[in-house]
Amino acid sequence: MRPAGALRLVVVRRWQLALAAALAAGLVLASWSAVNAFTEQERGWAATRTGLVYFVRTSQPAVALTFDDGPDPFETPRVLAMLRAGGARGTFFVLANSAERYPAIIQSILAEGSEVGSHSVSHPNMANMSAAAVGREAAASVATIAKVAGRPITLFRFPYFSHTAAGVAAVRALGLTVVEASVDPKDWAKPGVAAIVRRVTEGVRPGDIILFHDGGGHAQTLAALPQVIDALRQRGLQMVTVSELLRMGSPSYEVRP
Ligand SMILES: [Zn+2]
Repeated sequence: MRPAGALRLVVVRRWQLALAAALAAGLVLASWSAVNAFTEQERGWAATRTGLVYFVRTSQPAVALTFDDGPDPFETPRVLAMLRAGGARGTFFVLANSAERYPAIIQSILAEGSEVGSHSVSHPNMANMSAAAVGREAAASVATIAKVAGRPITLFRFPYFSHTAAGVAAVRALGLTVVEASVDPKDWAKPGVAAIVRRVTEGVRPGDIILFHDGGGHAQTLAALPQVIDALRQRGLQMVTVSELLRMGSPSYEVRP
């Protein structure tokens, strides 16, 4: 237990950190908007490789469980309890609007040692937006989530994985790592608990980034998760955050062969 005075000091420092992060994000966006263009080198890079991280090349026995569309007041705390019971951590790609609405859930994600990334402000289809609009939405989402979290946000996942190469470049220009997934059980389509477990555990490999949803209406995901965690543990796979996984190897910008 920390004395109350020390705790208050930490809170203030976190708030100041968040403000600084928000200001920095605003400055980055302002300077980026001012030039409103990428270098010729970046244009060439965007055309040849979009810069999406699909999985991590690593020899270490670890994978990342990720959860999109939260925080949700019913599902996210349950997911957190299951992760804790299984000795696992997760990465939650949250909507800024929901993070603002449920700041305590964001705090409990972080208190569990799990990670928070951005999944935009309000889940638009970003393939239909200009690169400038994508950059604005991503910067706004990160500023809001960082303020709630009290720490910088470094990961971004496009809603529906829907993007243009220029949109990805705009997000990366903000200093964000754009995360896809290498294992998708399509839990949102409600294929059944057994199918979710099988789709995740069949063929799972170290470095995989596994996609789930916790934004509401995912009873099958909640039922499958303890079995998934058990099965992964039995294979000796540690469940770490995406940032931890990235530190264990190098990002793959290509899908699994
Ligand atoms: Zn989503």
